Amino acid sequence: MLVENTRTDVLIVGAGPTGLTLACSLARAGVGFHLIDKITERSPYSRALVVQLRSLEIFNQLGIADGLLPQGNQAGNAKLFVKRKLKVELPIFDVAYKGCRFDKALFIEQGRTEHALDECLAALGSKAHFGHELLSFEETADGVTARCRGENEYSVEATYIVGCDGAHSAVRHGKGIAFEGAAYAQDFMLVDLDIEWDQPRDAFMAFQDRDGFMALFPMKDRSRLIAARGRYREDAPEPTLDDFREVFQRLVPYEAELSNPVWLARFHLHHRIAERFRSGRVMLAGDAAHIHSPVGGQGMNTGIQDAWNLGWKLAWALKSPATAETLLESYHEERHPVGESLLRTTDAAFNFVAGQGWFAKTARSWFAPWALPLGASLPPIRNRARYLVTELGISYHGSSLCGPGGGHPRPGDRMPDFEIDGESLHAMLDPVRPTVLCVGDLPAESSDWKSIHLAEPTAHHRDLLGIKDGCYFLIRPDAHLAARGGGNPEIEAAPLTKLAPT
Ligand SMILES: Cc1cc2nc3c(=O)[nH]c(=O)nc-3n(C[C@H](O)[C@H](O)[C@H](O)COP(=O)(O)OP(=O)(O)OC[C@H]3O[C@@H](n4cnc5c(N)ncnc54)[C@H](O)[C@@H]3O)c2cc1C
Repeated sequence: MLVENTRTDVLIVGAGPTGLTLACSLARAGVGFHLIDKITERSPYSRALVVQLRSLEIFNQLGIADGLLPQGNQAGNAKLFVKRKLKVELPIFDVAYKGCRFDKALFIEQGRTEHALDECLAALGSKAHFGHELLSFEETADGVTARCRGENEYSVEATYIVGCDGAHSAVRHGKGIAFEGAAYAQDFMLVDLDIEWDQPRDAFMAFQDRDGFMALFPMKDRSRLIAARGRYREDAPEPTLDDFREVFQRLVPYEAELSNPVWLARFHLHHRIAERFRSGRVMLAGDAAHIHSPVGGQGMNTGIQDAWNLGWKLAWALKSPATAETLLESYHEERHPVGESLLRTTDAAFNFVAGQGWFAKTARSWFAPWALPLGASLPPIRNRARYLVTELGISYHGSSLCGPGGGHPRPGDRMPDFEIDGESLHAMLDPVRPTVLCVGDLPAESSDWKSIHLAEPTAHHRDLLGIKDGCYFLIRPDAHLAARGGGNPEIEAAPLTKLAPT
């Protein structure tokens, strides 16, 4: 399709999970955008295959979670084998968190997740332009001018540009933002295939010994195996099914028939983070902003959450330009530490499972067999691991958007979700402006914003919200708490209140 030179609010480069989530968020807020991707059709192969609980909550706000669940496999357990012996069996993805309507991570191909987001975008009246590539862009005082190529070359004038264009981001390069980090020394291989054996399909499994590791992800129709392959060599041969059979036999204590490999590939991993997630009118999100090892299944999920954090801020910034600086800077302020912490944890986990040094090998063969079961049996360690993996524990404490109020949840935390009159609180939040939840016998909130009244909180509500008496909660469109307090003055004094569009 020929595209004329165009003017829009936001140019989104990249229609992977991050760009699509951002587009859905902007479409809900009624913001104009132009979403492009240079691929002409989606890959039939899947990179990410775990949708974590926090992403499912976002999909619930978008109204697509219920349709996605039956397409995947909700496997709640994690099993860890060391030297062919089962050492830890932990319902790490099966958490039944108080205040989360989902209880298990969803193992599902990235393509199906993207398809659900494509459909969501279509229902909101928009779509991605495939086969359209960003060639270059320039930033001016009041916007960006980009050159794009689809069937023809055309220019896009936009107020903001967001690079959701993956690890080799043209937006990041164009703005000259450093991508600090390094490549891992190891080579990896993956296969999507059928496994015939007598094991239930309810667990993610990791197998390791002194020399390496292999992970198994149970999708709905088939399974994914990922295995380490020694040091990376440019000229290493492509993996074969027999390579997997060999590793399987060495590490897995069960008999199995491996067959029908639909995708065999090798890959090389990096851990890098952009120095800034926002510079002027340019924002980076998803793999364009951070890449790391897939240990823990966090990459796609973190991109989805970057987009969810950024979408409503862009919408506000466009409606009240005077607030843009504070709001958009808060995107970097809140999400860059999340990316840094992710790199630290995935790096440590990666070195533990795949490191080739003496220390890593010794840790795997001597330390892991007794330390992992011990750690898994201690509730504080187990809960911390669950909050990390599910991403429900991500908070923005100390953000300049946080208002007063202690307790739990405290400003910056994700707001627990629960039903009010049979409807999910998260799904009821205003997509563009703050929502005030008024709990208990308090006067109705006076602002023009959406107000939800929970007049008679049960013991369950009081427990979730950490309250004895009535309380106001000021909730952001991304379901994080901005402020809480016993009266309107606390809400009126919150930094977010001063920034919110009226
Ligand atoms: C083997 C493997 C397993 C993984 N497993 C998991 C997992 O279980 N869970 C998880 O959360 N993550 C996982 N990940 C990571 C996950 O796949 C990525 O984090 C995720 O795809 C990032 O999404 P994104 O939208 O940010 O970028 P991408 O999916 O890379 O999308 C970027 C898009 O930008 C487009 N683009 C690039 N340049 C341009 C340009 N100049 N103009 C126009 N378009 C452009 C590209 O065509 C592409 O479609 C895994 C990764 C690998 C390699």
